[in-house]
Amino acid sequence: QAKEAGKNRYHLFDPGLDREVQARRTKLKHINVALNKDEFVLYYQPKVDLLTGEVIGAEALIRWQHPEQGLLPPAAFLGLIDGHDLEIEIGEWVIESVLKQIAVWNTLGLTFPVSANLSANHLLQVDFADRLQLMLERHPAVKHEDLELEILETSTLNDIDQAAGILTQCRNMGVRFSLDDFGTGYSSLTYFQRLPVDTLKIDQSFVRDMLEDPNDLDIVESIVRLTQTFNKSVIAEGVETLEHGAMLIKLGCSHAQGYGIARPMPAGKLPAWVEQWRHDEPWLTINIPTED
Ligand code: C2E
Ligand code: MG
Ligand code: MG
Ligand code: MG
Repeated sequence: QAKEAGKNRYHLFDPGLDREVQARRTKLKHINVALNKDEFVLYYQPKVDLLTGEVIGAEALIRWQHPEQGLLPPAAFLGLIDGHDLEIEIGEWVIESVLKQIAVWNTLGLTFPVSANLSANHLLQVDFADRLQLMLERHPAVKHEDLELEILETSTLNDIDQAAGILTQCRNMGVRFSLDDFGTGYSSLTYFQRLPVDTLKIDQSFVRDMLEDPNDLDIVESIVRLTQTFNKSVIAEGVETLEHGAMLIKLGCSHAQGYGIARPMPAGKLPAWVEQWRHDEPWLTINIPTED
């Protein structure tokens, strides 16, 4: 009540209110409206095993179906909600949507795990594990093991002990975790050592350049070795060409995700894509198809 009054007073009587602050508020308001109007959608990018041809999962990637501007990528709006309540609200919408999607796909015979990207601020909420538990309870048909959460090592994830505690709680419920964009942060090894995760996702920048740059190749190889030594899973992101796939297999990383396999697509298109993938030779298409 008092806070509300304070807000209004600020709004009404501070003509010097910074334009940028004002602009951010307006944008946040738009994002809030968009969430209520259900304008956010999740696209899904398949993950495959290049050796067996098996579809091993899918990653949910948020987009904003903007009424005037069309389909907006996460980079166009996620930064704005950083540190704001909306970051948590949208984060929960994403997880809830993924759980619904897993249930739908299960009824169609698609039984692989699906991952959601999780922001550091969201993960560090003190009640994160409890709220996740509630979400899982709302979807009793979904196996907890089929939900995977991808976390980024960012400066906002500075409280590693707290993050590790929450991860442990969630993993005890069966939920899996991966470290996204692995190798790009300042303290990848610290995160790897202290956060109980199941999978490392090799960042796409290393994969993209590994055929030309021996340093990147060494990094990819080292990450694969690291996962072998510590008995973790590994998946390469940004696999765009047959050559990338061949090299990754050679290095011992057959799990892959990238435009060369499939672009992120609307949920409704995934079952047909899986059919097609299973029907075709389980191998990369060199032509990079466009999103949609
Ligand atoms: P990410 O989680 O590392 O996702 C991979 C990004 O690379 C996606 O971009 C994907 O479309 C793109 N990508 C996939 N394969 C290839 C490839 O072969 N080549 C290239 N050049 N790019 C590829 P997108 O969808 O724009 O997402 C960007 C980032 O936004 C994500 O990176 C993730 O950090 C964040 N993000 C996406 N959805 C969510 C979400 O629901 N919640 C949160 N907190 N973050 C999200
Ligand atoms: Mg990700
Ligand atoms: Mg990534
Ligand atoms: Mg990324």
